[in-house]
Amino acid sequence: MKFIISVLLFTFIAHQSNSQAVTKTENIILITLDGFRWQELFTGAESRLLLNKKFVADTAALITAYWRETPQQRREILMPFFWNVIAKEGQLYGNRTSGNKVNTKNKMWFSYPGYNEILTGSADDARVTSNDPVNNPNQTVLEFLNKRKEFKGKVAAFSSWETFPWIINTERSGIPVNAGFMRATKNPTESEKLMNELMVQLPNESGGTRADAFTFHYAFEYLKNQRPRVLFISFDETDHFAHEGEYDQYLTSAHHTDGVIKSLWDWIQSDPLYKNMTTLIVTTDHGRGNKNPEDWRHHGSKVESADEVWFAFLGPDVPALGEVKTEQQFYQSQVAKTLAAFLGIDYNSAQKTGDIISSVIKK
Ligand SMILES: [Zn+2]
Repeated sequence: MKFIISVLLFTFIAHQSNSQAVTKTENIILITLDGFRWQELFTGAESRLLLNKKFVADTAALITAYWRETPQQRREILMPFFWNVIAKEGQLYGNRTSGNKVNTKNKMWFSYPGYNEILTGSADDARVTSNDPVNNPNQTVLEFLNKRKEFKGKVAAFSSWETFPWIINTERSGIPVNAGFMRATKNPTESEKLMNELMVQLPNESGGTRADAFTFHYAFEYLKNQRPRVLFISFDETDHFAHEGEYDQYLTSAHHTDGVIKSLWDWIQSDPLYKNMTTLIVTTDHGRGNKNPEDWRHHGSKVESADEVWFAFLGPDVPALGEVKTEQQFYQSQVAKTLAAFLGIDYNSAQKTGDIISSVIKK
Protein backbone atom coordinates (compact mmCIF):
# COMPACT_ATOMS: atom_id res chain seq x y z
CA MET A 1 0.00 0.00 0.00
CA LYS A 2 2.77 2.36 0.99
CA PHE A 3 4.47 1.57 -2.33
CA ILE A 4 1.28 2.31 -4.31
CA ILE A 5 0.83 5.63 -2.55
CA SER A 6 4.37 6.74 -3.26
CA VAL A 7 4.00 5.72 -6.93
CA LEU A 8 0.78 7.70 -7.14
CA LEU A 9 2.40 10.65 -5.42
CA PHE A 10 5.41 10.50 -7.73
CA THR A 11 3.12 10.38 -10.80
CA PHE A 12 1.14 13.31 -9.46
CA ILE A 13 4.24 15.44 -8.83
CA ALA A 14 5.73 14.56 -12.22
CA HIS A 15 2.49 15.50 -13.93
CA GLN A 16 2.26 18.77 -12.02
CA SER A 17 5.73 19.91 -12.98
CA ASN A 18 5.11 18.86 -16.59
CA SER A 19 1.95 20.88 -16.93
CA GLN A 20 3.69 23.94 -15.50
CA ALA A 21 6.88 23.99 -17.51
CA VAL A 22 6.32 22.17 -20.79
CA THR A 23 4.89 23.99 -23.78
CA LYS A 24 4.01 22.46 -27.14
CA THR A 25 5.59 25.29 -29.12
CA GLU A 26 8.81 24.33 -30.92
CA ASN A 27 8.79 27.13 -33.50
CA ILE A 28 7.82 30.81 -33.58
CA ILE A 29 6.64 32.99 -36.44
CA LEU A 30 6.67 36.69 -35.50
CA ILE A 31 5.01 39.06 -37.97
CA THR A 32 4.69 42.86 -37.90
CA LEU A 33 2.54 45.23 -39.96
CA ASP A 34 4.28 48.60 -39.75
CA GLY A 35 2.09 51.31 -38.20
CA PHE A 36 -1.18 49.45 -38.74
CA ARG A 37 -3.73 51.00 -36.38
CA TRP A 38 -5.81 49.12 -33.81
CA GLN A 39 -8.76 51.19 -35.06
CA GLU A 40 -8.87 49.33 -38.40
CA LEU A 41 -7.95 45.96 -36.89
CA PHE A 42 -10.82 46.05 -34.39
CA THR A 43 -13.43 48.20 -36.12
CA GLY A 44 -12.58 47.95 -39.84
CA ALA A 45 -12.64 50.80 -42.35
CA GLU A 46 -13.38 54.23 -40.92
CA SER A 47 -16.17 56.18 -42.67
CA ARG A 48 -14.63 59.67 -42.43
CA LEU A 49 -11.51 58.37 -44.22
CA LEU A 50 -13.20 55.92 -46.59
CA LEU A 51 -15.50 58.65 -47.95
CA ASN A 52 -12.79 61.30 -48.17
CA LYS A 53 -11.78 61.90 -51.79
CA LYS A 54 -8.52 63.33 -50.58
CA PHE A 55 -7.47 59.89 -49.27
CA VAL A 56 -9.31 57.59 -51.67
CA ALA A 57 -9.15 57.46 -55.49
CA ASP A 58 -12.42 55.55 -55.99
CA THR A 59 -14.69 55.90 -52.94
CA ALA A 60 -17.50 53.82 -54.47
CA ALA A 61 -15.17 50.89 -55.11
CA LEU A 62 -13.74 51.11 -51.59
CA ILE A 63 -17.22 51.23 -50.05
CA THR A 64 -18.12 48.05 -51.94
CA ALA A 65 -14.91 46.39 -50.82
CA TYR A 66 -14.73 47.35 -47.14
CA TRP A 67 -17.81 49.23 -45.93
CA ARG A 68 -20.40 47.26 -43.93
CA GLU A 69 -23.03 48.27 -41.32
CA THR A 70 -21.32 47.19 -38.09
CA PRO A 71 -17.70 47.35 -36.86
CA GLN A 72 -17.79 43.53 -36.52
CA GLN A 73 -18.74 43.11 -40.18
CA ARG A 74 -16.24 45.72 -41.30
CA ARG A 75 -13.27 44.17 -39.50
CA GLU A 76 -14.18 40.71 -40.75
CA ILE A 77 -14.33 41.81 -44.39
CA LEU A 78 -11.00 43.65 -44.00
CA MET A 79 -9.07 41.01 -42.02
CA PRO A 80 -10.86 37.66 -42.50
CA PHE A 81 -8.03 35.49 -41.15
CA PHE A 82 -7.77 37.56 -37.97
CA TRP A 83 -11.52 37.42 -37.33
CA ASN A 84 -12.41 33.95 -38.59
CA VAL A 85 -9.35 32.09 -37.30
CA ILE A 86 -7.29 34.02 -34.72
CA ALA A 87 -10.43 35.38 -32.99
CA LYS A 88 -11.82 31.86 -32.71
CA GLU A 89 -8.70 29.78 -31.99
CA GLY A 90 -6.28 32.35 -30.57
CA GLN A 91 -6.24 35.74 -28.84
CA LEU A 92 -6.33 39.42 -29.78
CA TYR A 93 -5.37 42.34 -27.53
CA GLY A 94 -5.70 46.09 -27.91
CA ASN A 95 -9.35 46.95 -28.57
CA ARG A 96 -9.54 50.17 -26.55
CA THR A 97 -13.31 50.45 -27.09
CA SER A 98 -13.61 47.68 -24.48
CA GLY A 99 -10.80 49.03 -22.30
CA ASN A 100 -8.20 46.50 -23.42
CA LYS A 101 -5.06 48.56 -23.97
CA VAL A 102 -1.67 47.87 -25.47
CA ASN A 103 0.86 50.71 -25.56
CA THR A 104 4.50 51.23 -26.38
CA LYS A 105 6.77 51.84 -23.39
CA ASN A 106 9.05 53.98 -25.53
CA LYS A 107 8.15 57.63 -25.96
CA MET A 108 9.31 57.89 -29.58
CA TRP A 109 6.35 56.29 -31.39
CA PHE A 110 8.18 55.50 -34.60
CA SER A 111 9.71 52.44 -36.20
CA TYR A 112 13.23 51.68 -34.93
CA PRO A 113 12.33 52.36 -31.26
CA GLY A 114 9.18 50.22 -31.70
CA TYR A 115 11.00 47.27 -33.26
CA ASN A 116 13.74 47.62 -30.67
CA GLU A 117 11.11 47.36 -27.93
CA ILE A 118 9.32 44.39 -29.53
CA LEU A 119 12.56 42.49 -30.17
CA THR A 120 14.57 43.33 -27.03
CA GLY A 121 11.73 43.53 -24.51
CA SER A 122 12.57 47.03 -23.32
CA ALA A 123 12.36 50.62 -24.47
CA ASP A 124 15.64 52.45 -24.90
CA ASP A 125 14.80 56.14 -25.23
CA ALA A 126 18.37 57.09 -24.36
CA ARG A 127 20.09 55.28 -27.22
CA VAL A 128 17.46 54.33 -29.80
CA THR A 129 16.29 57.75 -30.92
CA SER A 130 16.21 57.68 -34.73
CA ASN A 131 15.48 55.47 -37.75
CA ASP A 132 19.08 55.83 -38.94
CA PRO A 133 20.89 52.65 -40.02
CA VAL A 134 23.09 52.26 -36.95
CA ASN A 135 23.81 48.98 -35.23
CA ASN A 136 21.54 48.31 -32.27
CA PRO A 137 23.54 48.36 -29.02
CA ASN A 138 20.87 46.12 -27.47
CA GLN A 139 20.57 42.37 -27.85
CA THR A 140 17.28 41.11 -29.31
CA VAL A 141 15.49 37.97 -28.20
CA LEU A 142 16.37 36.64 -31.67
CA GLU A 143 20.08 37.03 -30.89
CA PHE A 144 19.55 35.55 -27.41
CA LEU A 145 17.91 32.46 -28.95
CA ASN A 146 20.45 32.18 -31.78
CA LYS A 147 23.21 31.86 -29.14
CA ARG A 148 21.63 28.69 -27.79
CA LYS A 149 22.74 25.38 -29.27
CA GLU A 150 19.23 24.24 -30.20
CA PHE A 151 18.48 27.46 -32.14
CA LYS A 152 21.90 28.21 -33.62
CA GLY A 153 21.46 28.98 -37.33
CA LYS A 154 17.71 28.42 -37.05
CA VAL A 155 16.70 32.05 -36.59
CA ALA A 156 16.05 34.28 -39.62
CA ALA A 157 14.40 37.57 -40.55
CA PHE A 158 12.80 39.01 -43.68
CA SER A 159 11.72 42.64 -43.96
CA SER A 160 10.50 45.13 -46.51
CA TRP A 161 12.23 47.98 -44.68
CA GLU A 162 15.94 48.05 -45.40
CA THR A 163 17.01 49.01 -41.84
CA PHE A 164 16.52 45.63 -40.13
CA PRO A 165 20.10 44.36 -40.58
CA TRP A 166 21.05 47.17 -38.15
CA ILE A 167 18.09 46.70 -35.79
CA ILE A 168 18.89 43.00 -35.46
CA ASN A 169 22.60 43.81 -35.67
CA THR A 170 23.55 41.07 -38.12
CA GLU A 171 27.21 42.01 -37.73
CA ARG A 172 27.18 40.97 -34.08
CA SER A 173 24.27 38.50 -33.92
CA GLY A 174 25.07 36.59 -37.10
CA ILE A 175 21.32 36.35 -37.83
CA PRO A 176 20.58 36.46 -41.56
CA VAL A 177 18.28 39.36 -42.42
CA ASN A 178 16.93 39.61 -45.97
CA ALA A 179 15.83 43.25 -46.09
CA GLY A 180 14.90 45.91 -48.63
CA PHE A 181 16.16 44.94 -52.08
CA MET A 182 18.38 42.05 -51.00
CA ARG A 183 18.06 39.08 -53.29
CA ALA A 184 18.07 35.39 -52.40
CA THR A 185 21.59 34.30 -53.33
CA LYS A 186 22.22 30.99 -51.57
CA ASN A 187 21.19 28.18 -53.99
CA PRO A 188 18.06 30.08 -55.05
CA THR A 189 14.95 28.06 -55.92
CA GLU A 190 13.13 28.70 -59.22
CA SER A 191 10.68 31.01 -57.42
CA GLU A 192 13.52 32.92 -55.77
CA LYS A 193 15.30 33.35 -59.11
CA LEU A 194 12.14 34.84 -60.61
CA MET A 195 11.64 37.15 -57.63
CA ASN A 196 15.27 38.27 -57.81
CA GLU A 197 14.53 39.57 -61.31
CA LEU A 198 11.02 40.93 -60.76
CA MET A 199 12.00 42.82 -57.63
CA VAL A 200 14.35 45.11 -59.55
CA GLN A 201 12.36 45.18 -62.82
CA LEU A 202 9.06 46.37 -61.35
CA PRO A 203 8.63 50.12 -60.76
CA ASN A 204 9.32 51.16 -57.18
CA GLU A 205 8.36 54.37 -55.43
CA SER A 206 9.46 53.56 -51.90
CA GLY A 207 13.20 54.11 -52.07
CA GLY A 208 15.11 51.23 -50.48
CA THR A 209 11.96 49.59 -49.14
CA ARG A 210 10.50 46.79 -51.26
CA ALA A 211 6.91 45.66 -51.83
CA ASP A 212 5.59 43.35 -49.09
CA ALA A 213 4.75 40.60 -51.60
CA PHE A 214 8.50 40.03 -52.16
CA THR A 215 9.21 39.96 -48.44
CA PHE A 216 6.47 37.41 -47.91
CA HIS A 217 7.42 35.06 -50.73
CA TYR A 218 11.15 35.16 -49.92
CA ALA A 219 10.27 34.32 -46.30
CA PHE A 220 7.85 31.57 -47.32
CA GLU A 221 10.44 29.93 -49.61
CA TYR A 222 12.97 30.09 -46.79
CA LEU A 223 10.51 28.55 -44.34
CA LYS A 224 9.76 25.62 -46.65
CA ASN A 225 13.36 24.97 -47.64
CA GLN A 226 15.54 26.03 -44.70
CA ARG A 227 13.10 25.14 -41.91
CA PRO A 228 13.95 27.84 -39.33
CA ARG A 229 12.65 27.53 -35.76
CA VAL A 230 12.24 31.27 -35.28
CA LEU A 231 11.16 33.36 -38.25
CA PHE A 232 10.53 37.11 -38.15
CA ILE A 233 8.68 38.74 -41.06
CA SER A 234 8.21 42.52 -41.11
CA PHE A 235 5.84 44.18 -43.59
CA ASP A 236 5.97 47.89 -44.33
CA GLU A 237 3.28 48.96 -46.82
CA THR A 238 0.64 49.95 -44.28
CA ASP A 239 3.00 52.63 -42.92
CA HIS A 240 4.13 53.73 -46.38
CA PHE A 241 0.62 54.22 -47.79
CA ALA A 242 -0.57 55.95 -44.61
CA HIS A 243 2.23 58.50 -44.88
CA GLU A 244 1.28 58.96 -48.54
CA GLY A 245 -2.31 59.61 -47.45
CA GLU A 246 -3.67 56.73 -49.56
CA TYR A 247 -6.33 55.12 -47.39
CA ASP A 248 -7.45 52.75 -50.18
CA GLN A 249 -3.92 51.37 -50.57
CA TYR A 250 -3.47 51.21 -46.78
CA LEU A 251 -6.59 49.04 -46.41
CA THR A 252 -5.79 46.92 -49.46
CA SER A 253 -2.30 46.20 -48.16
CA ALA A 254 -3.61 45.18 -44.73
CA HIS A 255 -6.13 42.90 -46.44
CA HIS A 256 -3.40 41.27 -48.55
CA THR A 257 -1.20 40.77 -45.51
CA ASP A 258 -4.09 39.09 -43.72
CA GLY A 259 -4.30 36.79 -46.76
CA VAL A 260 -0.62 35.89 -46.82
CA ILE A 261 -0.67 35.18 -43.08
CA LYS A 262 -3.53 32.78 -43.80
CA SER A 263 -1.58 30.96 -46.52
CA LEU A 264 1.44 30.77 -44.21
CA TRP A 265 -0.68 29.35 -41.40
CA ASP A 266 -2.46 26.87 -43.67
CA TRP A 267 0.93 25.58 -44.84
CA ILE A 268 2.25 25.39 -41.26
CA GLN A 269 -0.78 23.38 -40.18
CA SER A 270 -0.29 20.98 -43.11
CA ASP A 271 3.41 20.34 -42.52
CA PRO A 272 4.34 17.49 -40.15
CA LEU A 273 7.35 19.37 -38.71
CA TYR A 274 5.44 22.56 -37.94
CA LYS A 275 1.85 21.46 -37.39
CA ASN A 276 0.59 21.99 -33.81
CA MET A 277 4.14 22.94 -32.77
CA THR A 278 4.25 26.49 -34.11
CA THR A 279 3.05 29.71 -32.50
CA LEU A 280 2.21 32.81 -34.49
CA ILE A 281 2.61 36.29 -32.96
CA VAL A 282 1.42 39.34 -34.92
CA THR A 283 1.89 42.94 -33.82
CA THR A 284 2.87 46.45 -34.90
CA ASP A 285 5.72 48.86 -34.09
CA HIS A 286 3.57 51.94 -33.41
CA GLY A 287 0.08 53.35 -33.84
CA ARG A 288 -0.99 56.50 -35.68
CA GLY A 289 -3.07 59.57 -34.91
CA ASN A 290 -6.84 59.56 -34.75
CA LYS A 291 -8.01 62.93 -33.43
CA ASN A 292 -8.29 64.97 -36.63
CA PRO A 293 -9.04 63.48 -40.08
CA GLU A 294 -5.43 64.06 -41.23
CA ASP A 295 -3.90 62.44 -38.16
CA TRP A 296 -4.18 58.82 -39.32
CA ARG A 297 -1.32 59.53 -41.72
CA HIS A 298 1.15 60.40 -39.00
CA HIS A 299 2.90 59.07 -35.92
CA GLY A 300 5.75 60.12 -33.64
CA SER A 301 5.82 61.61 -30.12
CA LYS A 302 3.84 64.70 -31.11
CA VAL A 303 0.92 62.71 -32.52
CA GLU A 304 -1.68 61.87 -29.90
CA SER A 305 -2.40 58.13 -29.55
CA ALA A 306 0.48 57.01 -31.82
CA ASP A 307 1.64 54.85 -28.90
CA GLU A 308 -1.50 52.68 -29.11
CA VAL A 309 -0.69 49.25 -30.49
CA TRP A 310 -2.11 45.69 -30.47
CA PHE A 311 -1.07 42.06 -30.58
CA ALA A 312 -2.45 38.71 -31.69
CA PHE A 313 -1.46 35.14 -30.77
CA LEU A 314 -2.29 31.77 -32.30
CA GLY A 315 -0.82 28.35 -31.59
CA PRO A 316 -0.93 25.11 -29.62
CA ASP A 317 -0.30 26.78 -26.24
CA VAL A 318 -2.67 29.72 -26.72
CA PRO A 319 -6.04 29.31 -24.96
CA ALA A 320 -8.88 30.14 -27.39
CA LEU A 321 -10.10 33.29 -25.66
CA GLY A 322 -10.58 35.22 -28.91
CA GLU A 323 -10.80 38.99 -28.58
CA VAL A 324 -9.78 39.81 -25.01
CA LYS A 325 -12.23 42.40 -23.67
CA THR A 326 -11.07 42.73 -20.08
CA GLU A 327 -9.94 46.16 -18.89
CA GLN A 328 -6.20 45.67 -18.76
CA GLN A 329 -2.99 47.47 -19.70
CA PHE A 330 -0.30 45.71 -21.72
CA TYR A 331 2.95 46.92 -23.26
CA GLN A 332 4.92 46.27 -26.41
CA SER A 333 7.88 45.41 -24.14
CA GLN A 334 6.10 42.19 -23.11
CA VAL A 335 6.41 40.48 -26.51
CA ALA A 336 10.05 39.34 -26.28
CA LYS A 337 9.80 37.50 -22.96
CA THR A 338 6.46 35.97 -24.01
CA LEU A 339 7.97 34.77 -27.30
CA ALA A 340 10.74 32.94 -25.44
CA ALA A 341 8.28 31.57 -22.85
CA PHE A 342 6.32 29.83 -25.63
CA LEU A 343 9.55 27.92 -26.33
CA GLY A 344 9.89 27.12 -22.64
CA ILE A 345 12.85 29.46 -22.30
CA ASP A 346 13.39 32.25 -19.77
CA TYR A 347 14.60 35.31 -21.68
CA ASN A 348 17.26 37.16 -19.71
CA SER A 349 18.32 40.58 -20.87
CA ALA A 350 20.80 43.18 -19.66
CA GLN A 351 17.83 45.57 -19.49
CA LYS A 352 14.68 45.11 -17.46
CA THR A 353 12.12 43.54 -19.79
CA GLY A 354 8.34 43.55 -19.79
CA ASP A 355 6.65 40.57 -18.12
CA ILE A 356 5.32 37.49 -19.86
CA ILE A 357 1.69 37.93 -20.96
CA SER A 358 0.57 34.99 -18.85
CA SER A 359 -2.94 34.69 -20.34
CA VAL A 360 -1.57 33.67 -23.77
CA ILE A 361 0.14 30.51 -22.49
CA LYS A 362 -1.91 27.55 -21.23
CA LYS A 363 -1.13 26.69 -17.63
ZN1 LIG B 1 6.91 52.17 -38.42
